[in-house]
Amino acid sequence: MEQELRDKYEVVIGLEVHAQLKTKSKIFAPDKNEFGQEPNSLTSPVTLGMPGVLPVLNKEAVNMGILTGLALNCEIPSRCKFDRKQYFYPDLPKGYQISQYDEPICVNGHLDINGKRIGITRAHLEEDAGKLVHAGADGLAGSSYSLVDLNRAGTPLLEIVSEPDMRSSDEARAYMEELRNIVRYIGVCDGNLEEGSMRCDANISIMPKGSKEFGTRAEIKNVNSFSALQRAIEYEIERQIEIVEDGGKVVQETRLWDDNSRETRSMRGKEDAHDYRYFPEPDLMPLEISREWVDRIKSEMPELPAAKRARYQSIGLSEYDANVIVEQMGLALFFDKVLELGANPKTAVNFIMGEIAAYLKEAKVEISETKLTPENLAELIALIEKGTISNNIGKQILIEDMITKGEKASAIVERKGLSQISDEGAIKELVQKVVDAHPNEVEAYKNGKTNLLGFFVGQVMKETKGRANPKTVNELLRSIIG
Ligand code: ADP
Ligand code: MG
Repeated sequence: MEQELRDKYEVVIGLEVHAQLKTKSKIFAPDKNEFGQEPNSLTSPVTLGMPGVLPVLNKEAVNMGILTGLALNCEIPSRCKFDRKQYFYPDLPKGYQISQYDEPICVNGHLDINGKRIGITRAHLEEDAGKLVHAGADGLAGSSYSLVDLNRAGTPLLEIVSEPDMRSSDEARAYMEELRNIVRYIGVCDGNLEEGSMRCDANISIMPKGSKEFGTRAEIKNVNSFSALQRAIEYEIERQIEIVEDGGKVVQETRLWDDNSRETRSMRGKEDAHDYRYFPEPDLMPLEISREWVDRIKSEMPELPAAKRARYQSIGLSEYDANVIVEQMGLALFFDKVLELGANPKTAVNFIMGEIAAYLKEAKVEISETKLTPENLAELIALIEKGTISNNIGKQILIEDMITKGEKASAIVERKGLSQISDEGAIKELVQKVVDAHPNEVEAYKNGKTNLLGFFVGQVMKETKGRANPKTVNELLRSIIG
């Protein structure tokens, strides 16, 4: 689409993000909350919606809801309640979902993304539905029927609803990425979009630039990655502009994103709230949340990603490095432990973002799956700082022995005899030997080819297998041939 046409319109985006909470059991039932188990093995009578069963609220889900709300700068009202949202679908055995309607657990929050504030209207607790397995999937190829797996039914979800404050797909993506960072760092959700433990519905509308009145929104479901979210939004913007330019009207509806054909298609007309016939869940008491409860959870809040980035910059990391390391939680938590052990931050970050990150990428593993410990990396860095070994030797043994074998740096240095030679007498002898062996180069150096210094340094390093203190070598060379 031509940029000129695009520029006539302003885009309005609001996201509804569902985060699966990592509780041990389900939100109203004792079944385990686990992914990847034998289908229909986590299905107590409560999960199956049998007559006469009663839901019992899982306190851990409430704790996680409060923690997330606080991380998103929300107010936690002293009272919230649960409601029934009725709809018919085969993955919902009760015929209704227990959710929260007019009194959610979190309200009025916000997130600052690249200096812009995105409002968070509310976040509420609810139960997830089961999963239908359709023809073609999971060995059902060619079948004319679908199967239902209710293991996921009753998994706790926190639905986080933003204000329609975003104005581009870039902003929506950045908001979603930060939300994912937050739920991962506070430990309430593993934030895996591909596996569906975090899901996003994107509400999109367009209006003529300068207009104050929002257009009709379409809601896009089924985006399974950050890049798919961006593609879906871009597609939807152009679809809506074309409709309006043709004199048509955008209809309020739910559309499905197909990442293969890269288009959205209509799934159903969008229900209004009254279609769901919400009413208060009679089997659950309204929930009173005391200020002491909220304060206790506040006091347990781990460091949030934004604070972590700021702290990293305050100890000398570039903005770029701080961002990159925070995006990789495993590396950031590892880095924090190395810092706690007193390691030099610059050296630590160079190793982590350099050799270690490259190794992990190549081997396709997480740092926790390697044999490298924060203690061992801190010890290695201390050896370099003390001048016992050179930085280059450090890099070499880090990859060859520490990551793969879990050996301690000091033990490797001892075993391989790698400690740096700083003794002037010993180095001087070697320097003299190298100088004597290369009379032509010495002559050239004296005649002005001073960049030959590097050649001499290299020769000495070769003699010592990289163990000579480079500073001493340089000084001695200059005094002998200079
Ligand atoms: P529903 O469950 O009906 O989708 P919600 O209130 O839960 O309603 O969510 C509505 C979402 O749509 C919010 O994220 C809100 O910011 C967004 N939204 C509302 N109006 C518009 C609009 N005109 N354009 C884009 N997004 C909108
Ligand atoms: Mg919605």
